[in-house]
Amino acid sequence: MLRIAIQKSGRLSDDSIKLFKECGIQFDSSSSGKLKSISANFPAEFLFLRDDDIPGYVEDGVADLGIVGENVYTETGREVTVVHKLGFSKCRLSLAVPRGTQWNGVQDLQGRGIATSYPRILGNYLKENGVEADIHEISGSVEIAPSIGLADAVCDIVSSGSTLLSNGLKEVEVIYRSEAILIAAPNLSEEKALLLDKIMFRIKAVQAAQNHKYILLNCPAASVNEIMQYIPGMKAPTVLPLVTEGWVSLHSVINENDFWSNIEKIREAGAEGILIIPIEKMIR
Ligand code: ATP
Ligand code: MG
Repeated sequence: MLRIAIQKSGRLSDDSIKLFKECGIQFDSSSSGKLKSISANFPAEFLFLRDDDIPGYVEDGVADLGIVGENVYTETGREVTVVHKLGFSKCRLSLAVPRGTQWNGVQDLQGRGIATSYPRILGNYLKENGVEADIHEISGSVEIAPSIGLADAVCDIVSSGSTLLSNGLKEVEVIYRSEAILIAAPNLSEEKALLLDKIMFRIKAVQAAQNHKYILLNCPAASVNEIMQYIPGMKAPTVLPLVTEGWVSLHSVINENDFWSNIEKIREAGAEGILIIPIEKMIR
């Protein structure tokens, strides 16, 4: 059985649970006090932990797999394998200073105090930039450090920047970008590696579906070749005759990123009655 560590409660929890559920792996994630849950339909047991502890548990083999932010993976420096980027919990680690401070670059922090929960990532960044500063490691509420006189600057996780703003700080330098990743213990047994392959197959199907949409449209039969260039689909589009003479219904798959730019060209080529439908799973 695979043991999979996910965050007990926090910014990674909901999306981690959702990912495994979309992969068809059922488990009870409801009761908040719960520490473990065995899946009813896949040989996996889920462990609900604090995110900081997950890389250590995976390195030690207490858990075989885990989901953490890249920031936590890098900060803990544990020997685990990064299996896959998961595309959620995107954030950045940034330097911020009180709003009135003039900023010319990271050299301004020479000899200054910086509060952070990420001393390793910050330390490496300062070293690369030849800056020597005083790193104050604190575990939470980093953003209040300047206003209580603990530090001149902070290095903290930012997504929208509103927390910094409400504490009178301005973001001046992004030093690290992060998203959720799937990590694995370094020496998985053959059986466990096979289970990981199965999970990865499903995760890729879920991710591919999220990036694509099913598209249906009506067009003159003579326009099919031109429209096909924009929506080639997985192998080729499906073309079905309409009752109206000379018209067909064309079905295909379109990448989310190409959607708006291509939809114009498709309409110009004669398409009408265009429907875009979400895809639940996609296996190439
Ligand atoms: P725990 O109690 O498990 O230690 P925590 O308070 O350390 O939780 P969270 O705030 O839940 O951690 O964040 C977990 C991870 O989610 C972070 O390490 C980071 O990768 C990511 N993250 C943090 N803040 C944001 C945000 N505002 N938007 C998106 N992702 C974020
Ligand atoms: Mg934490």
